[in-house]
Order: sequence, then structure tokens, then C-alpha cells
Amino acid sequence: MSRTIQLALILSAPLALLVAVFVLNRTIGMAEGDRDYVVRFDLPSADAPVDLPRVDGPADASRPLVVIDAGHGGFDPGAGMEGVREKDVALAIALAIRDRLLAGGGVRLALTRETDRFISLGDRPDIARRLNADVFISVHADSAESDLARGASIYVLSEKGSSEAAERFAERENGADKVNGVALSQTSAGVGAILLDLSQRGAQAGSTELADLMLRELREAGIGMHHDRVETAALAVLKAPDIPSILLETGYINNAQDYAFLRSKQGQNTVAEAAARAIRVYFARNSGA
Ligand SMILES: [Zn+2]
Repeated sequence: MSRTIQLALILSAPLALLVAVFVLNRTIGMAEGDRDYVVRFDLPSADAPVDLPRVDGPADASRPLVVIDAGHGGFDPGAGMEGVREKDVALAIALAIRDRLLAGGGVRLALTRETDRFISLGDRPDIARRLNADVFISVHADSAESDLARGASIYVLSEKGSSEAAERFAERENGADKVNGVALSQTSAGVGAILLDLSQRGAQAGSTELADLMLRELREAGIGMHHDRVETAALAVLKAPDIPSILLETGYINNAQDYAFLRSKQGQNTVAEAAARAIRVYFARNSGA
């Protein structure tokens, strides 16, 4: 009996040693990690494409496909302060545009996100491309140092930020892929020098046409514009090479009036109706082209 126990002890010694080393390592490892806090979040791996979203609307694949992109999400709140978060405003308006377009019928529609989750800037146009979308619209809400800044803005991609203000703006929007200044993907690193190739130039004409229509419809709906023209900026999210793409800044969420408007059902519906009209006119003009 005692020999059996001795034998068992001898046999289990290496295992005991392994366990001891493991426990010791964990303990020392944790002691070395002398940090106040550790933030962890799951990021999509670089080589695995994100899952494609559901496409709503008619099953007929010949119908035009709109991809609406609600800006920011997940650990990236976007602009805002004191509980006012751009990512929530953007999602509410993206959903309102979807509902309005689906109610009108005839178009197919997908959202890059319909929950509060993070998607990298590069994955957003990539979703549109993989779905073979006809237009891509990224929805945002800006904030400024002054709470007097107001109004909506429409952006198309430029090779380079055309003004200092546009560059600052692009920096702000392109910063979504950075945490404490560390780039999460290669997309944001190369944004400074976005080169437009030939197919992009073709899509640029469509982008400009869509942007002009959006400006017209927002204006006609009585929505104040920040500047009364389409803006250009080097925005990573508009980099789909072959899909007309615009970015809609719906207003300034640190301006009390804009924020109240964007948070209200009535405000969201007004923006959504104008956006839906612009998209329909765009498709009507370009059908069979
Ligand atoms: Zn934004």
C-alpha cells in the first residue's frame, strides 16, 4: 500500500512541478503587470473580412442597392460630450433613412451596422464593395469648439484636404481607427495621401452628383447647411474606388438646437425624407445609364 503511494508520488512529481511552474508564472506575471487598468476589446482580425450585413427590400438583384453607414460605434463614440454621442445620433438617422427608403419601395438596402458595434474605417466601404452597392452614404454628426457652429455638411472624397479646416475635419473623422494615437489598421495610416485612380475618378462624378442632390434636398427640407456648398476632404471611409460615396454630417451635436433636432423623431424623419428623395432622384437620373 505504502509502495503504491510512493510510486504515485514519484510519477506525479513532474506534473506537480509543471503545475507549480504554471502557478508561479501566473503570479509573477500578474505582479509584473503593475497597471492601474487594462482595456481590452475585440477587433476583427486584419485578414478576415467582416460578415456582410443583411440586404433588405425586394429580392430582385437588379434593383439598386444603397449601403447606409452609421458612423463610429462600439468603443469609438465619435464626437460628443456629457452623454451626447455621435455614434447614437448617426445610428438613429441611418435607421430612419433605411425605413424611409424601404417604405418607398424599389430599392434594396443594407446597413454597415445596426447595433452599437465597432467597424474599422476600411471595412465600411469594403462592405459596400462586396455587396456590389450602387451608392454608399456615411452618416455622421459633427462637433466644434464653438457651440455656435450649426448646420449639415456634405462631403465627397478629395485627393487632399483642400483647406486647413477640411484637413482638421478629416483628421477627426479618420481618427476612428486610432486608440491613444495607435493605428488599428493600415487604412488610417495611408489616409494622408489618398490617390484617385481611374475607376475612382469615374465614381467621383457620381459622388458629386449625389452630393449636389443631397445638398438641394436638405436645403429644400429647410435643414440649415453649415456651408452652402459640397465640401471635400480626404476621408478614409469614402475610399471605395468604384462606388459613388458621400459623407453626410447631419449637424453639430454640441449645438443645442442641432442636437435637439437630430435627437427628435421629427428631425430624424426630416433628414431621412430629404436623403431618400436625393437618392431616388439620383437613381432615376442614372437608371439605364
Ligand atoms: Zn463622425
